[in-house]
Amino acid sequence: MLKKLAGIKSAAIDELSSLSDLGELEAWRVRYLGKKSELTQILRGVASLPIDQRKVIGASANKVKVLFEHSYQEHKKSLKERAYQEMEAATGSKQIISTPGISSAEKFGSPDVSLPDVSLPDVSLPGRPIPLGRLHPTTQMVREICNIFIALGFQVVEGPEVEWDYYNFEALNIPPDHPAHDMFATFWIDTEPDQRPMLLRTHTSPMQIRVMEQTRPPVRVVVPGKVYRYEATDATHESMFYQIEGLAVDENITFSDLKGTLYEFAKRLFGEERRVRFRCDYFPFVEPGVEMAIDCMACGGSGCRLCSDTGWIEILGAGMVHPDVLRRVHYDPEVYTGFAFGLGVERIPMLRYGIDDIRLFYSNDLRFLSQF
Ligand SMILES: [Zn+2]
Repeated sequence: MLKKLAGIKSAAIDELSSLSDLGELEAWRVRYLGKKSELTQILRGVASLPIDQRKVIGASANKVKVLFEHSYQEHKKSLKERAYQEMEAATGSKQIISTPGISSAEKFGSPDVSLPDVSLPDVSLPGRPIPLGRLHPTTQMVREICNIFIALGFQVVEGPEVEWDYYNFEALNIPPDHPAHDMFATFWIDTEPDQRPMLLRTHTSPMQIRVMEQTRPPVRVVVPGKVYRYEATDATHESMFYQIEGLAVDENITFSDLKGTLYEFAKRLFGEERRVRFRCDYFPFVEPGVEMAIDCMACGGSGCRLCSDTGWIEILGAGMVHPDVLRRVHYDPEVYTGFAFGLGVERIPMLRYGIDDIRLFYSNDLRFLSQF
């Protein structure tokens, strides 16, 4: 019996080393470890052997069985590895071995966590898609708006968010004691007593001055950027938001240029069928000043919740550049005229997508952000 076992053992091991694919290996397993295999028959018969043989035969047969099982697993592993290397050589690239469903805490944390066997990826599975990032909805909007103005001949410029009081207020006709100061609650920067006052800009309008100081007409710029207000936040107010400022200065620029440009902008952004309305408004650095509204895209002008039953939605403020502002940057207001406008960026996607809380933009919630 022991001789027979030795025979089975050497035949099986010899045969195993010549197997070159998983199908042959499976046939080998059935032949030597299956229910009808000689080894299994021997193991079954052990109980009926005389007591003196039982122990010896039983132990030897079990040893052979363990050897077979171990050899089977080893050979299977090496066949898979060979297949993997061949695939790698064929594609010329290294397969990234992923560890699905394992958080980094598990990977690098307790050594007790048993990791799945990742050394042998199933090469036939499709790859895992790499999650793609996307632009923030505000960035998307800034680009869309700027692209419209670029097509209309404007340049995009950016300016500092920490601004001198002079550019934020004074140069824009808002001296310290002017009531218009009250329109802008802001964050002031601590400065030395001999330094000029400095603040987080409350609007992008300071760049009107900075641009005009450095260039001569014709000027056509749009200025996107962050602005700050020191105020309580609620569904329609944030302490930080985006504005886009626009400025055009040249000879013979009239109010109809302002209307034509902004009408074209509204049509390109909100659709060809939009109507616009201009009404008087007040901003210290323009004269006259207007606010522009579009007819409500939700109700078409008949009145709804979105437009507070007015049929119109205010989009931006604008006006003709105040002559004093032009004089301050040494433009002769008898020769040059211009228009300026400013709009809040977040308001546009809020209207377009029905977003009812501006705070969602900057609370970094992926459930919100990934919708755009
Ligand atoms: Zn409406």
